[in-house]
Amino acid sequence: MLLTIQPHECLRSFLERHFFLDPQSPESIRFRQISTYYMRGSSIQSIAEVLGRGDTYGFNRLLHDHTSYSQVAVFLSSNQKSYTRSDCQSATVRFITEHQLPGICIQCVKDDIAQLGFPYWRRDHRYVKVCSKHNTPLLRKCPICAKDISVHGYAYGHDLLWKGCNGYYIHQCESKLNYDGWQLALSEIFTEIGESKFTVDLEFVIAHISGEVKKLSDLGIISETKIKALKHRLNTSKRIGEASYEYRPDFKYSECIIYVIAIVYGSFAGLLDSVRAVDGPVRNVDDLMHVKH
Ligand SMILES: [Zn+2]
Ligand SMILES: [Zn+2]
Repeated sequence: MLLTIQPHECLRSFLERHFFLDPQSPESIRFRQISTYYMRGSSIQSIAEVLGRGDTYGFNRLLHDHTSYSQVAVFLSSNQKSYTRSDCQSATVRFITEHQLPGICIQCVKDDIAQLGFPYWRRDHRYVKVCSKHNTPLLRKCPICAKDISVHGYAYGHDLLWKGCNGYYIHQCESKLNYDGWQLALSEIFTEIGESKFTVDLEFVIAHISGEVKKLSDLGIISETKIKALKHRLNTSKRIGEASYEYRPDFKYSECIIYVIAIVYGSFAGLLDSVRAVDGPVRNVDDLMHVKH
């Protein structure tokens, strides 16, 4: 039985739900060929084919909505014509790795149970510390037995959401509130980038933000130490453009630019507005996804 992939569901979660519900189904047998630890471009292509969306657009859609590649793809290189920087469909690049631990938001699990009847793992919760929807700290330990989720059970503990622990389930636990506003801001920008319908030009954006930082510096609004930190991170953000065949989700390429966006604009939407205000290049993600590399 082929299940429906859920909004922002991590691809590992999608596969593990098949194994949990019907390990002998044709889909489960096919998905078992994919490594439990990582997913290469070729594995994502095979998931796209099972979903009946094995074309360029279908592959790119899976990459954008269900892996962290969106964090890189939204910052285009100037000469880029297609969604990905290189031909990724058959590539050996690892787009998902369990080195990047999944996190649980108890409130998301409660919502899932109420709305769908089952919970699932979110892509973004691997890369941030706070759930941007509920402002709750993301758990890397089981809230019932306190064991690390990654060693909790088969396949790095993914079945915890469905099997529960010692007769209890995650949705029966109480969630805590996060009081770290900075972590929430970073998480919100991460979510915005992952859901973005638009791309910006990486080189343009770095030059553009440098100009804004200079303005802030001239006005004396921000301390010298902070200006230094901004410049350093802006410079490091150039690495996003180098992430082609070498893309590794655990390197968190967008981390530095998110820091800068948080301080200078407060949101990714703020950056987009600022780029549009000077007629800077903004493109539609969907258009790029149709173009074969
Ligand atoms: Zn949540
Ligand atoms: Zn447990």
